[in-house]
Amino acid sequence: MVIIDNKTEEYIFDIAKQSNGTLSANIVSQLTERLHCELEQLQQALLPVAAKFSQAPISQFLVGAVAFDKVTGNMYLGANLEFKHQALSLVVHAEQAAINNAWINGAQEITSIAINAAPCGFCRQFMNELSSAGNLTILLPTGTYSLSELLPCDFGPNDLGNASSLMANTASNINIDLPISDALKQHLRFAYVPYTENLCAAELVLTDGRAFYGRYAENAAYSPSLSPMNSVLSQLALSGEQLDEADVEQITLVERAGYENQKSVAQAVLTSLKGNVPLIHHVF
Ligand SMILES: [Zn+2]
Repeated sequence: MVIIDNKTEEYIFDIAKQSNGTLSANIVSQLTERLHCELEQLQQALLPVAAKFSQAPISQFLVGAVAFDKVTGNMYLGANLEFKHQALSLVVHAEQAAINNAWINGAQEITSIAINAAPCGFCRQFMNELSSAGNLTILLPTGTYSLSELLPCDFGPNDLGNASSLMANTASNINIDLPISDALKQHLRFAYVPYTENLCAAELVLTDGRAFYGRYAENAAYSPSLSPMNSVLSQLALSGEQLDEADVEQITLVERAGYENQKSVAQAVLTSLKGNVPLIHHVF
């Protein structure tokens, strides 16, 4: 087992904050050399760094996850995110955060994910939506498992006649005629919405100009779906910003006309942020 000392942990935490929770293939290879370890050992050694991004005011249970993308060679951190005055069903789990982070930032094939605690049933189901679900290695403190070992007799996209999967979906070529940023348009096109068809994404802008993005990621079991609002707040948390302290200028939520289903949940979660952050809502 590879253990990272405190100084190195702080060094990596700083790098991860700058890159919103992504460690590039270059940094990954520097770290494997420096620590004389293999990729999977590094993934597990990085878990305390990932868990530093956790914001868990309810459980105080800090969960970290590190996903590896075979195509880019990048590693993507994730941590749990809880909202003190909202329903527990709205929390973001660390595994969702890591996979969302990878997906938002261009990963194409997650082949392994390390977690510092056993994944809950909800997360096993969330991971089952991935294009690489049949080939996913899960690295836990108790050993290494395939997803099918942890989720036998599964229910998945095929059971609802959905042939697509998370991270393999192609961009919609739908025309988006709205006064929003090109980046937000691009995230809208890549939303994974095979069940409701509500192409939906969110943009969060801080007063210092930094922008974060979230996309709707649906799930065959519906409940484990990740809303675009939670997706973008998880991205904000991976920059090291505390939800109740960040200076958020505005949030833009865009949905597909006739299919809207995200406005009320976005408004509910908004109350966890500091001040009265305006929610700009568009449909197209
Ligand atoms: Zn979970």
